[in-house]
Amino acid sequence: MASASQRSLVVIGAGVFGASLARHCARAGWDVTLVEQVAPGHARAASGDESRLIRCAHGADEWHTRLARRAWELWREIDPRLVVPAGMAWLAHRVGGWEAESERTLRAAGIPCERVDGAGLFPSFAGGDIAFTLFEPEAGILRAREATRALARLAVEEGARLLLARARPDGSAVVLDGGQRLEADRVVWACGGWLPALFGDLVRVRVTQQDVFYFGAPAAWRTPGVPGWVDYDGAAYGLGDLDGRGVKVAPDVEGPEVDPETVERLPLAAHERQAREYLARRFPALADAPIVGTRTCQYELTPDTHFIVAPHPGHDGRVWLVGGTSGHGFKHGPAIAELLQSQLLGESPPEPRLGLEPREPDRGLRTAGAVIR
Ligand SMILES: Cc1cc2nc3c(=O)[nH]c(=O)nc-3n(C[C@H](O)[C@H](O)[C@H](O)COP(=O)(O)OP(=O)(O)OC[C@H]3O[C@@H](n4cnc5c(N)ncnc54)[C@H](O)[C@@H]3O)c2cc1C
Repeated sequence: MASASQRSLVVIGAGVFGASLARHCARAGWDVTLVEQVAPGHARAASGDESRLIRCAHGADEWHTRLARRAWELWREIDPRLVVPAGMAWLAHRVGGWEAESERTLRAAGIPCERVDGAGLFPSFAGGDIAFTLFEPEAGILRAREATRALARLAVEEGARLLLARARPDGSAVVLDGGQRLEADRVVWACGGWLPALFGDLVRVRVTQQDVFYFGAPAAWRTPGVPGWVDYDGAAYGLGDLDGRGVKVAPDVEGPEVDPETVERLPLAAHERQAREYLARRFPALADAPIVGTRTCQYELTPDTHFIVAPHPGHDGRVWLVGGTSGHGFKHGPAIAELLQSQLLGESPPEPRLGLEPREPDRGLRTAGAVIR
């Protein structure tokens, strides 16, 4: 088995997954080339929004719980300024649902959580339909676009080359739009919503339009102060006003299928209505708050919401595909990079749940209509 320092790696895609891997492997001594078609953290990449939630609760799923906990540690090592430890509130509609399962899993893993009064967390809160609120204090928000850019910059500082070009596969090699051909011991395609167009039926991923809304609100709504929150059964999530951007509300209902390359980045009226209605219902003081910003983004949904981190079947472990992060991947970026490096070296086997085999549609990390952040 060769060591990292004898290996070369080409990573295509400088979203959080590609940039995390490039940084991690460059630090470990790999000869790394990172290829990005636009710019790290650009507006059309899923990693290009201002903020992403980070939390360990994943229902009864211990594997993701531990992965998120490792990611929490890694993000803070990478740069504590990227992490806003505002905490996360889970608004549970049922006594025995996802949040109760999460609570058991978190406690078993030694990760702090407690039941709190939801009204104490928000300046205005209507929780008549809420059975209990589960609070994760060691959770919060990642400054996502800044983090993605930082990872790419750190990769370069560790010796990686960043090439701004569009790539396509040619066997196990990579061809750039200028004609340059790249070959390496390992090639990893971490292309987010662009992966299906590059690899067709090999990746069973649906790309859907998801819209995020920012509402103008008084200073009492600032995050930190106001935590991140997920209303799992209510299919919405958000946070307070981080860095003056406005209070964030995202309807968590699957939008229409889109092509990330060509879709107009304008929010759908139906999504705006869902966000406004949720805001008025849950946080009544903000019922008439104005929209001060929007983002149109994409989910890359696998049938069971588990990611794809898998060797391409045609290339004997030289080519790997990473994606299908199903609306909950950002937080895990650095932890997946750590795991994947050892798989690229052959030190650990591919994770079966992240493989390319056909998957049964499964509740997985979702409940009716909702995808968990
Ligand atoms: C509305 C919304 C809210 C979300 N909320 C959360 C959350 O709260 N917490 C969380 O953990 N996750 C969340 N997610 C999910 C998270 O954002 C994604 O899982 C993550 O950003 C995916 O990163 P990625 O690197 O796979 O893809 P991307 O960030 O899309 O990066 C892929 C990159 O590949 C490049 N690329 C593609 N094709 C090529 C090519 N041929 N040549 C060169 N470069 C190429 C693209 O330009 C792009 O930069 C959310 C997603 C959405 C849409």
